Amino acid sequence: MVESNIDYSKEILRQNERILFLLLVLIIITVLFLFVILPRSEKKDFTLFMDDISETREIGKLNKIVRRVDSLFLDIEYPSIGCDEIDRKINNIVQNKIDLVENNYSKKENNYYYFLKYEIYVGDGNIASLILNDRVDNIDLKNVENKKEIYYFSLDKRDSINVNDIFNEEFEEKKKELGINSDSFYIKKDKIIYGDKEIELNEVKDYVKIDVSNSKDYANDTPSKVSTVVNKEYTVNQDVVMYDSDSINRNIIKTITRGTIIKVHSNINNGFSMVFYEDGIGYVVTSNLVEVTKDNVVINTDRVTMYVIENTSVRLYPDKKSDKIGDLKYGDTVTKNGEIGDWIRIDYNGIDGYIKKGSVSSKKTEKNPVEIDVIRREEIDSSKPMVAITFDDGPNNTSTVKILDTLEKYNVKATFFDLGKLMLKYPDVVKREAKLGEVGTHTYNHLNLNQLSEEQLQEELNLSINAYKQVLGVEPKLLRPPYGNANGLVKSYITSMAIINWNVDSLDWKYRNKELILKEIDKYGDLNGKIILMHSIHPATAEAFEELVPKLLDMGYQLVTISEMAKYRNYTLETGTVFYQFK
Ligand code: ZN
Repeated sequence: MVESNIDYSKEILRQNERILFLLLVLIIITVLFLFVILPRSEKKDFTLFMDDISETREIGKLNKIVRRVDSLFLDIEYPSIGCDEIDRKINNIVQNKIDLVENNYSKKENNYYYFLKYEIYVGDGNIASLILNDRVDNIDLKNVENKKEIYYFSLDKRDSINVNDIFNEEFEEKKKELGINSDSFYIKKDKIIYGDKEIELNEVKDYVKIDVSNSKDYANDTPSKVSTVVNKEYTVNQDVVMYDSDSINRNIIKTITRGTIIKVHSNINNGFSMVFYEDGIGYVVTSNLVEVTKDNVVINTDRVTMYVIENTSVRLYPDKKSDKIGDLKYGDTVTKNGEIGDWIRIDYNGIDGYIKKGSVSSKKTEKNPVEIDVIRREEIDSSKPMVAITFDDGPNNTSTVKILDTLEKYNVKATFFDLGKLMLKYPDVVKREAKLGEVGTHTYNHLNLNQLSEEQLQEELNLSINAYKQVLGVEPKLLRPPYGNANGLVKSYITSMAIINWNVDSLDWKYRNKELILKEIDKYGDLNGKIILMHSIHPATAEAFEELVPKLLDMGYQLVTISEMAKYRNYTLETGTVFYQFK
């Protein structure tokens, strides 16, 4: 009994041992799997991509990024070659370049274009040479920066390598002898290629560290793509589609209507041309491009009367260098019978003449009175000096509020030229501005109105008026154009508001410093009848205003709104005129 009991316990012990042993084996397998088998299986064999190969792209698949970041348009091409480790490195290189160029060019006043193009070659020893060509162009198609960099990768090591991994130290000396004076060479099959020089790897085999006998031939017979830079304006002979790359299998970005002038960057020998358009870069079929001549004018079937809004010359062809056949003066009317790009075709003494688009408007500039109800203030004496302070670019809920507090404290008035989009964001601040002073519009988006087409101009004005109306319930009567820009076309389109500019610029937007702002205004001396420009969105402006108000009051100035000053000084506010002061 006892013995069998012992046997029994032994049996249990043995079973426990077995379970323990099995557990141990399981743990070992898990560990092996996690640390040995898994990492190995991750490093699976790769197959090179051969999707977009050509004579200059021996391996890989094309990746394309076309996008816009504020003033910068990017057109980036780089390869994936099918080896994850190397592709990650290429991605990093490209991403660093994008970051750098975005930092440098996305906040510019003019548009910039960034191109990144590549070539990739495979050489003996399974070395891939990646050549990245960087270019930054500005809007005038003037080359501003051009860079070429070469990166080497070992397909065997699945890693980036440098020149020292390919050649030994003595190669530096040999390079001089061969006339290679930089590291800007690449290896293609059995040759080192440097500029237009070619050197057989065999010739320098004593200096080569890699095993060149272990080589795969990646050569192919795809014809090469060559592009010729054109940098010229063309138009299109019919409505044509624009692609995001030079192939009809790519995405269509937009349609270009017949007669539109487009800037052609280059012709590619595959039948495509690369062109610039307002949002970036696109590709059109070259055979659709035609030179700008009077033969490709888009004919308007209905003849439209247009008003000349600034003096202009009439040309024989849509080209400012062609013969001048006459002059038109402000106030003349013309009959438009066609248009091409920036030009309008008109009837001129029985023949076709061409004038620049911005010189005529389909609206006539009218000088109609702009009526504003001005409630007389007891305390204002129209015979005494007065000044109108105006605040642009707001409102916000910090500096603007502080400025309003100052107005309230001293019981004085000012005029706010607000942006439509901010009026909708801070309607309560706007209502307080209207209560303590006067509100005009500074447009909706703060665009340079001089640069807009008639359609865009109308759209921007509609947005401005609608935003104003939504917040204040009435339409605006005063407009301050962004940058003070209002050319003839702009004036013809502003049909219900007086345009108010300024003759004292506080430069607050530039200084952002209380003392400097006050000093700047001081420079103007007598401020009677003057309009001061300030901006309600800067803290320093609000601080300066807090000191400026008691100072001006001490000097005997009355602080009034634009409409008050116009009334007290017997001006009739009207459309079609830009007011700078009320003397
Ligand atoms: Zn502004």
